[in-house]
Amino acid sequence: MKIFCVGRNYADHAKELGNAVPEEPVIFMKPKTALLQSHTPFYYPEFSNELHYETELVLRISKNGRYVKESQANAYYDSISLGIDFTARDIQAELKKKGLPWEKAKAWDNSAVIGEWIPLTDQLLKNPIHFSLKKNQETVQEGDSSDMIFSFNKIVSHISMYFSLNIGDMVYTGTPAGVGECVVGDVLEGYLEQQKMFELEIK
Ligand code: MG
Repeated sequence: MKIFCVGRNYADHAKELGNAVPEEPVIFMKPKTALLQSHTPFYYPEFSNELHYETELVLRISKNGRYVKESQANAYYDSISLGIDFTARDIQAELKKKGLPWEKAKAWDNSAVIGEWIPLTDQLLKNPIHFSLKKNQETVQEGDSSDMIFSFNKIVSHISMYFSLNIGDMVYTGTPAGVGECVVGDVLEGYLEQQKMFELEIK
């Protein structure tokens, strides 16, 4: 199982971190050890002093493939969830400054939180998908799939030009503006439309 992630897929978020809006999807990966298993506590990573949440819609790949055309990409995913691409922002800033790869900021153990999976029906795809994150019961991040620079189909197609898609792979599709810091004791709750997808306490 592979975890693909898209960076800078919302113009407002690219702007808030001082990055240019990309011309093609920015793709990075997390290893499967990054996935926080359900009912497992999440611990603040000891190597960081600036842990950020990034709330993202996540797709699950349902069909093996390579070189998938954008117009056919919707046949390659069938479920959606909401997750957090946890980022050690201080580490990332250091790495970016030096032009180094950012795995140490992004791909560490348990840095990928995932909620419940729901079937991605045509009905659900018909309208923009709205999602939000509450921190200690206050809404801190809100997103809407219609604000994505690259669509689900574009992302899946683009990934497949470089990497095999395999059943069970996940695609974190990028975070909207409003990323921010969390500290030990914070409780994070993710919502897709009105449905609560996960709840997590930072230990
Ligand atoms: Mg992200």
